[in-house]
Parts: sequence; C-alpha cells; structure tokens
Amino acid sequence: MAKKSKMSPMLKEVVSQIFRKPATQKYPEVKPKIPEGFRGRQIFNIDLCISCGLCARDCSAKAIEMVDVEGKNRPLFHLDLCIFCYQCAESCPRNAIKSSKAFELASTDKSDLVVKPNKSEEGE
Ligand code: SF4
Ligand code: SF4
Repeated sequence: MAKKSKMSPMLKEVVSQIFRKPATQKYPEVKPKIPEGFRGRQIFNIDLCISCGLCARDCSAKAIEMVDVEGKNRPLFHLDLCIFCYQCAESCPRNAIKSSKAFELASTDKSDLVVKPNKSEEGE
C-alpha cells in the first residue's frame, strides 16, 4: 500500500512564513508612524519658564543642568543621560517642557545631544 505523503510541521511553517507580511519595517526608507503621547526629544519654551529649577531637581537621571541665560537660570537637557520619563514636564508649574515626536537622536557628535535653552522652540 502506498504511503500517504504528509508535509512535515517544519515545512508547513516555512511555507506559511513565505506568505506572511514582514514583521519588520523598512526603516529608515519607510518612516514609522509615531503614536500619540510618544516621548521624544524635549521642546522647551523659554517664554513660559520662571527659572524655578524644579525640573532639574526632580530629574532622577540628572540630565538637566541649570545654566545662565541672560541672567536667568534655565534648563539645559543632556539627552545622553535622559531616560525620557518626562518627570521634568510633570514637575514644571508652567508647562514649559513638552515632548516631541523626534526620536532619531543617534549621533557621533555628543554636542548634538544637548538641548540648549537659548531660544523658544514652542510649536516645533
Ligand atoms: S525626561 Fe526624565 S530623564 Fe529626561 S530630562 Fe526629563 S526628568 Fe530628566
Ligand atoms: S520647572 Fe519649568 S519653569 Fe521651572 S525651571 Fe524648569 S522649565 Fe523653567
């Protein structure tokens, strides 16, 4: 009696994977859709800031340095230390710190990872 041919489970899996949609995206050619509430690079609005320093005090990663800008203390963000928890924004009484959707922060130049408080970036 002729044996009934059966597809092995492994071959079945291989065949099913061939027709499945890829799990990965073609980044960076295809940009990902950034979800609402994503916590990317900080946007600091110097016009709202009252120099209280609460953001720096509450940053557990010590990623905020208060620096002098025209005689007033303003937060400077060190993104190489930042863990993007956004406690700084929670602590700010003036909503001067907001998150952006900017996530492509990799750089070979460490100075790119510094968000200076020298201009208002609101609306970026
Ligand atoms: S997001 Fe978190 S770690 Fe980054 S600067 Fe704000 S408080 Fe610090
Ligand atoms: S907590 Fe807000 S108002 Fe206070 S220094 Fe930081 S950014 Fe400015």
